[in-house]
Amino acid sequence: MSGNKTLIMIKPTAVRKAYIGPIMGKIAEGGFKIKAMKYTCLSIEQAKAFYAVHSERPFFGELTEFMSSGPIVAAILEKDNAVEEWRNFIGATNPAEAAEGTIRKLYGTSLGENAVHGSDSDENAEIEGNFFFSATERY
Ligand code: ATP
Ligand code: MG
Repeated sequence: MSGNKTLIMIKPTAVRKAYIGPIMGKIAEGGFKIKAMKYTCLSIEQAKAFYAVHSERPFFGELTEFMSSGPIVAAILEKDNAVEEWRNFIGATNPAEAAEGTIRKLYGTSLGENAVHGSDSDENAEIEGNFFFSATERY
């Protein structure tokens, strides 16, 4: 069976637009339990490390500059089949293509500024969770 945890972020634009509250409401509505959460800011070096998998992509510079442009919220969420459930819940990468009612449709503004992140596999959920949280920061 697939794992029950995923690492999510509320990205800088969504934080700037005061969408933390509405997105937290959607998280509760979707039946995701919060295991860990923090309000923080990625340095450019940390953003490059987090997105290292995309380092060869043409949008890597834009992505890492954006993700280090202001505060974010990072959280570990728990639910059965969490990675897939969260990705379905937030919608397509491009908000313009995201289904009605999804977080990216509601709160995303462009392909780059798409409101939230979600891990893409159980393995990466573990790696990304460890990037932000120590064992004593999880409840
Ligand atoms: P995330 O990893 O943020 O949850 P995702 O898994 O849906 O999103 P990825 O392919 O992992 O999408 O891309 C990571 C992020 O890079 C996207 O969320 C998006 O903000 C940005 N991105 C992806 N493709 C492009 C592109 N062609 N131009 C600009 N930014 C892009
Ligand atoms: Mg991804």
